[in-house]
Amino acid sequence: MEKLYLIHATIAVEPAMEPSGWLKEAFLLIEGGVIEEISPSPLSPQRVDGAEVLDLSSRAVTPVWINGHTHLSQTFLRGLVGDRPLLRWLREAIWPLQQAFSPEVLEVAALLGLAENIRSGAGLVVDHQKITHDVSFTEKVYKAAQQSGLRVWIARAWSDRGSGAENPKAVMEELERWLSNNKANQRVKFANGPLAPWRCSAETLQATHQLALQYGAFTHIHVSETQEEVKLTWDEYRKHPVEWLESLGILGEHIQIVHGVWVQEPELQLLAERKALVVHCPVSNAVLGSGIAPLGDFIERGIRVRLGTDGPASNDVQDCFETMKFALCLARAANCKPSLIPPRLALEVAWGKPGLRRGEAADLAILRLDTVWTAPVHDLDSALVLSARASNVESLLIEGDWVLRDGKILTIDEETLIKEGSALLKWLRQKAGLED
Ligand SMILES: [Zn+2]
Repeated sequence: MEKLYLIHATIAVEPAMEPSGWLKEAFLLIEGGVIEEISPSPLSPQRVDGAEVLDLSSRAVTPVWINGHTHLSQTFLRGLVGDRPLLRWLREAIWPLQQAFSPEVLEVAALLGLAENIRSGAGLVVDHQKITHDVSFTEKVYKAAQQSGLRVWIARAWSDRGSGAENPKAVMEELERWLSNNKANQRVKFANGPLAPWRCSAETLQATHQLALQYGAFTHIHVSETQEEVKLTWDEYRKHPVEWLESLGILGEHIQIVHGVWVQEPELQLLAERKALVVHCPVSNAVLGSGIAPLGDFIERGIRVRLGTDGPASNDVQDCFETMKFALCLARAANCKPSLIPPRLALEVAWGKPGLRRGEAADLAILRLDTVWTAPVHDLDSALVLSARASNVESLLIEGDWVLRDGKILTIDEETLIKEGSALLKWLRQKAGLED
């Protein structure tokens, strides 16, 4: 954790500090991993004594992006959707390949996936970790996440019904093993990751949720991604999926509803009342032809929303910028309403906060504004949401530590991993019976 003094930067701040949300030609001091000061004028020489000084003219300094839902393992499963809907795609392509994974393949996949997130400005990633043949697999993801330097929540996935069902007692034991690692100041933590309502029993969902709460974590679950899935829950319980979760007594601020494409009117009300978090994955939902989640309704009702790329198997990239633009554009198109989701709101949803603030951890992204797709900048919010790409991200710091600096990832050796990945993919396809 170095002492850093950023000068002449365009800094995204909370509107309480500057109504436009941007301080131009401004100054920011990082010390001990914390944003010590943000100021429109230079700081005194005494305060910045010993700091490395970086001139960030033509650069924006912003909060990091949040990738609220992904499956890191799926960097090895890109390009397989074809023309298949969700459940057929899972049964025919994804599940056989996932079954063939080795711990080594998962480690390379996770590292490549984390590198992709770093390049996309994501400083916080929620990985719904589905390859759980034995504990050595999640251990590899844990190791990769720690190596990346990012903040990562690993939601250990499970199901105790249908194909691939696990024994509930074994699920509880393994979850407790992971969750008991959680400490407040750690960057990598564990959460409960039931796959979907129709794949989980009421009892195990309730028990695992209680366990997650006990260790300061949450439950992260796919809900109402397709109409077919909604029907599965309706046919069995005569309830919509969110209503079913409510009937189990687990709907609340510590539950993350991933997708929510087909939530119905009473479910929207429940999500708002219970302060549940919805993770909106618009690109994945569009690629799989699942539908368009009602982002406008979520926001209008004050439902907490985050954005997620979903795994590269159904996206087929983890690009926070693409996801942010897509979210805004789809919501406007679906409602024929150009005033829906102003660019600053899209940024706040993508960052999970209004802007940078003095006294908080120095998690920040540095973006070039002088690129052909952003310059000249007329409006900073629009430039970031509608024009900028992941490649505008030049540097990324977590708690003042460089993860990406001047375009180079410092924690992961991308070149070697890309080569290793190609060789391992051939092996994986053979093992899964997709190649001779
Ligand atoms: Zn998913």
